[in-house]
Amino acid sequence: MSIATVNPLNNETLKTFDEPARPDIESTLERAQKTFLEWRKRPFADRSKLMHKAADLLRERKERYADLMTLEMGKVHKEAIAEVEKCADVCDFYADHAAEFLADEPVETEAHKSMIVYNPLGVVLAIMPWNFPFWQVFRFAAPNLMAGNVGVLKHASNVPQCALAIEEVFRDAGFPPCTFSTLLISSEQVESVIAHPVVRAVTLTGSEKAGQKVAETAGKYLKKTVLELGGSDPFIVLADADLEKAAKVAVQARMINTGQSCIAAKRFIVEQKVADRFLERMRHHMEALQGGDPNDDVDYGPMAREDLANDLLEQVEQSVAMGARVVLGGKRPDREGAFLEPTILTDVKPGMPAWEEELFGPVAVVIPVQDVNEAIEVANASPYGLGGSVWTQDLEKGEQVARELETGGVFINALYKSDQRLPFGGVKRSGYGRELSYIGIREFMNQKTVWIE
Ligand code: NDP
Repeated sequence: MSIATVNPLNNETLKTFDEPARPDIESTLERAQKTFLEWRKRPFADRSKLMHKAADLLRERKERYADLMTLEMGKVHKEAIAEVEKCADVCDFYADHAAEFLADEPVETEAHKSMIVYNPLGVVLAIMPWNFPFWQVFRFAAPNLMAGNVGVLKHASNVPQCALAIEEVFRDAGFPPCTFSTLLISSEQVESVIAHPVVRAVTLTGSEKAGQKVAETAGKYLKKTVLELGGSDPFIVLADADLEKAAKVAVQARMINTGQSCIAAKRFIVEQKVADRFLERMRHHMEALQGGDPNDDVDYGPMAREDLANDLLEQVEQSVAMGARVVLGGKRPDREGAFLEPTILTDVKPGMPAWEEELFGPVAVVIPVQDVNEAIEVANASPYGLGGSVWTQDLEKGEQVARELETGGVFINALYKSDQRLPFGGVKRSGYGRELSYIGIREFMNQKTVWIE
């Protein structure tokens, strides 16, 4: 795929970008390494000032940056504004807390003094997706730059202007040149970047397929990886739940970012006793959503690319051919742009794409179950393990279910979302490693033992 801005509202190609030549890529990496050697020695207070400045710039320029997201991947504008604000918050958070998260940790031993000291690793390659084109990058960059690492971004090929804008934020905030660089390269060039001796680690957010490939390459060159991949998050509704609230949040949790979120709720696992009522309420709320031009005040826009909308439709149609039932939607509407109607499927069974695979767009699957035990069993039957939520008035039971789910996190009676104060990441085929909180900032550190006799 070429590196280009294509508006998914009308599939018009607005701008294309040439990839840098090999010597230019090498020169960026070498300059990044040179910067690292100085940057790692800067006191936290200096780095913190620059990171707060980056946060200020994001807030000042939020309209312009939100416009870019809406243009390149069809994000509803008000959601894009909220995304830029969230990025500013994560910059402030790590500017305020990095020193505390990476302070030396004394350990009692028979030594005169022994401790854990955190040293940055160096140049980290970030391979990022288009779905939250700012947030996914800042979630990596804020902690890592504060920790003394430097970042090189290979962004998704359909969001090049977002990628350049992020580089601009750090440059304008006054970070030394190449503390954060964008390389507008295709995935074919990634191996040579990973192989470069100055690159010490790789983080990837994206599909399972990309994660496998990058982990394989990183393994070949012995570089550390963190992978944040797909999910098929369960949304478990028990019979005693506040059904109206659960159904409302269910639609929000499925439709955020036009359904293109790794932690969107995808499988709605509902106790039989209340399944019909829940489905009726969910359908009611889903039907009420207004789709359209993402620059307008709508609830959902087009998907990010035409091919993604077609692939998702194929997953729906194959599932229907195998016996799934369409309760709502199930079609591409008769209009220009990468739209797919908000869709609800039931009668979904193992073996169908809608059961086995991630549905990365506005398609919900409702699965009735006999009781809480079957709910846990169905939730854990997925190859993925990113997030999940449980809806019940019995908080003790909710907590028990949370402990039994094979996911990186569970919210009870609330929409699952990332929060900078808490770790974020998955298990099973959703990847490994954690971002955010004090845990995320330590992923790309040398956790060094120092013993003084
Ligand atoms: P990809 O996983 O292909 O893209 C994510 C990033 O990885 C992009 O920067 C992409 O670059 C890069 N990439 C892809 N293949 C390789 C490779 N072999 N080596 C190095 N880098 C690579 O996502 P798609 O855009 O194709 O979306 C397809 C599916 O991915 C979705 O339907 C969804 O299931 C999943 N996805 C999950 C996300 C999440 O947040 N967990 C986010 C986005 C997608 P390039 O764009 O140049 O190919």
